Amino acid sequence: MKSSKANILLIYTGGTIGMVKDFKTGALKAFDFKTLLDHIPELQLLDCDIDTVSFDEPIDSSNMDIDSWIQIADLIEDQYVDFDGFVVLHGSDTMSYSASALSFMLENLDKPVIFTGSQLPIGDLRTDAKENLITSIQVASLQTNGKPTIQEVCLYFEYKLYRANRTTKLNAEDFQAFSSFNYHDLAESGVHLKVNHKYLFKPHADKKLKVHKKLDNNIALIKVYPGITKAVLQSIFNTPNLKAVIIESYGAGNCSTETWFLNLLKENISRGIYIINITQCVGGSVMMGHYETSSALKNIGVISGKDITTEAALGKLMFLLGQSISPNRFKTMYETSLRGELS
Ligand code: ASP
Repeated sequence: MKSSKANILLIYTGGTIGMVKDFKTGALKAFDFKTLLDHIPELQLLDCDIDTVSFDEPIDSSNMDIDSWIQIADLIEDQYVDFDGFVVLHGSDTMSYSASALSFMLENLDKPVIFTGSQLPIGDLRTDAKENLITSIQVASLQTNGKPTIQEVCLYFEYKLYRANRTTKLNAEDFQAFSSFNYHDLAESGVHLKVNHKYLFKPHADKKLKVHKKLDNNIALIKVYPGITKAVLQSIFNTPNLKAVIIESYGAGNCSTETWFLNLLKENISRGIYIINITQCVGGSVMMGHYETSSALKNIGVISGKDITTEAALGKLMFLLGQSISPNRFKTMYETSLRGELS
């Protein structure tokens, strides 16, 4: 008989959280994840059952790619019915990218998938790993009326639970490394663990988990800057097999109104390349048509990324390109919130 305690699967992909110092070189290297419980005996005191699984070769998250995301999705899919929640241990550098991508790959998720990591290795005296890991497991174990309280992909770091596809890593040094500028925190850990229930994602009732593993990375990301040249832009648009480009524009979605710039975008849209406009600001939204400098973009058929993060914009693009959908539907779907990534 299944015990009434929540059953949590810890998935270790790599990153600082599972690293120890090589005393000879001073460099951080991965340790055997099976010894995790020796490093954090407190885990045995939690009111849940914990199982662990690790990537065969844990990686620094700078080496994350589509295949690694599929590996995480496979682990979750294979064990979905046997566990009440999943905690993914991941390097912080690309955690927002992976967690955002997974939010699109896991459709109709009705269990928690909590990404976490740390700024200091688990063996360090001042480590932030223990709090991040312990609270992530507690969050993943929360139940409301016999069902998991959290039913979406989240990121937990330094006392805060965020919707994963709203996060960005903003600090390479502070324990408070992540932020979610355009959406509320989902929970806060203080003396009490306070969940902001009204901001949680509500999945469609009774729909079965669908795992999407076809992602297409024939894309480019361009951050515009004053002085950007035609030659640079053209070389990106000339990339073989290119299907879509995300442009990080200024402020509320503004770009140069120079004729060469607009013509280049127009030509590429006419040959079927999707162009998505997101803002390089960490907070706020693209509002095409608000200024003259964005009206032209709207008129030539640029897709609005609204208030999406760069990390989620990339994941959503790779996911939608893998779906073989018509250009009209593509624009509508990109501009519609699929997993709570847009306001
Ligand atoms: N470079 C590490 C990684 O992202 C940093 C960390 O773990 O936070 O894998």
